[in-house]
Amino acid sequence: MNISTRITGLLGGGSDGWGVFNRARAMIAQGIPVTELTIGEHDIRTAAPILQDMHRAAMAGHTGYAAVPGTAHLRDTVAQRVEARTGVRTTRDNVVITPGGQSALFAAHAATCDPGDVALYLDPYYATYPGTIRGVSAIPRAVPTRAEDAFQPRAADINAAAEGAVSLLINTPNNPTGVVYSRETLEGIADVCKKRDLWLISDEVYDTQVWEGEHLSPRALPGMAERTLVVGSMSKSHAMTGSRCGWIVGPEDVVHHLINLATHTTYGVPGYIQDASVFALTQGAPLEAEIAEPFRRRRALAQEIIAAQNTVSLVPAQGAMYLMLDIRATWLSGEAFAEALLDRHHIAVMPGESFGEAAKGHVRVAMTIEDRAFTDALRTLCEFAREGAATPA
Ligand code: PMP
Repeated sequence: MNISTRITGLLGGGSDGWGVFNRARAMIAQGIPVTELTIGEHDIRTAAPILQDMHRAAMAGHTGYAAVPGTAHLRDTVAQRVEARTGVRTTRDNVVITPGGQSALFAAHAATCDPGDVALYLDPYYATYPGTIRGVSAIPRAVPTRAEDAFQPRAADINAAAEGAVSLLINTPNNPTGVVYSRETLEGIADVCKKRDLWLISDEVYDTQVWEGEHLSPRALPGMAERTLVVGSMSKSHAMTGSRCGWIVGPEDVVHHLINLATHTTYGVPGYIQDASVFALTQGAPLEAEIAEPFRRRRALAQEIIAAQNTVSLVPAQGAMYLMLDIRATWLSGEAFAEALLDRHHIAVMPGESFGEAAKGHVRVAMTIEDRAFTDALRTLCEFAREGAATPA
């Protein structure tokens, strides 16, 4: 039987970049202890009051089909939050609730790309981006950013790649680099989108994790609200990764069609999850700050450790739960470094190459284990790099 090329070709023929991660998981399954600094998941679980509200909602009967676009209450809450943070007029008609940010990324591309259209994304990138684009039968085209620019994209590079493209996907604060795009960067991106008539898909799932500077949503820039689809999620801001609740904020006519898409794909998000999301969002900034705090703290600890040696350097860690480490002084590729670190010290990090060509010679460290184990692992990593650096291959 034939399986569609849409799904057999999802990975584009390459590897999915999860080799080190899978090997670490296999080692753990064999009983070998591994320090995992790989995936973007908090080391705390969803807070008890959020779970209590979820329980209350379920017991109150919100267990049937929920409104497909999202409940009015959650759509209003998301709209108010977005309006308060950006100053852009936003109502529930600008909001569709999705099962997490990942399905929002898929829906946003389904809404903007026809089969065969070119969709731009920036390299390094979150691992699912090209596959998500292929999943809607569009053609992913990577635009490289550069280590020497601290991975802030250049508008000229995007413009040069824009011929024939219909959309551009960006992510700030950024996974995997930890970089927060500056106002200047975003204004440059907005200008290219307007000049080249591109949709901008703005993945802002890390918007509550900003350590330096501030998060600016490009939807707030002049002339951008009508061409921007913002992807948001409860996963990172409220440690609700398993609840699968996210959204798209965009122009009303697009949202109208996205609701049709939801009817024919996901059929909505469970009502008790949406109620708990309203509860979580209405706790406001203090809860978001509390959930972000461990990453803020570990980032400061990491900065000290990295400042005390000179083999590994840190890409400016301005936001999100990751550090991007430049290990080019070891003469190893990110992949070889990560494989050897796993073999030698049972520490798992993601090779930069898993996130694209532009991050080669780097590794990504997720700040998602408790402080002591985290700092011990980082010291070991730096020492391992120093030893490797002494013997260029
Ligand atoms: N975008 C980025 C940049 C991410 O890192 C992730 C998850 N790691 C997602 C989107 C999707 O998250 P979720 O589906 O849990 O909202």
